[in-house]
Amino acid sequence: MSAECDGVLERIYSALDGEVSAEELADIHQHLEACPPCLEEYEVEAALKALVRRCCAEQAPAALRAKIVASITRVQTVQTTVTAHAADGSAVVTRVTRTTTVEG
Ligand SMILES: [Zn+2]
Repeated sequence: MSAECDGVLERIYSALDGEVSAEELADIHQHLEACPPCLEEYEVEAALKALVRRCCAEQAPAALRAKIVASITRVQTVQTTVTAHAADGSAVVTRVTRTTTVEG
């Protein structure tokens, strides 16, 4: 990360809010093309912003909300304890962990 990166990262937020000039925006994009870490940061911020915009939209229809919820896949871990008895009478405890994905 260079000092140039710091400046670009600061301006990314403004750029995403549409608060920079076309010239500045071009500078930012030029830097992003040459700097993968900054590009990654930009993409994360852009995705986050799009998500927030979608979720905070005052008139988000119920169907859209349901769609977002449905797209979130939950992972459910079920641990089962199985106790068996060996031939000599001693208990053999086996823990079985099963991970399943649950479509929201
Ligand atoms: Zn950079």
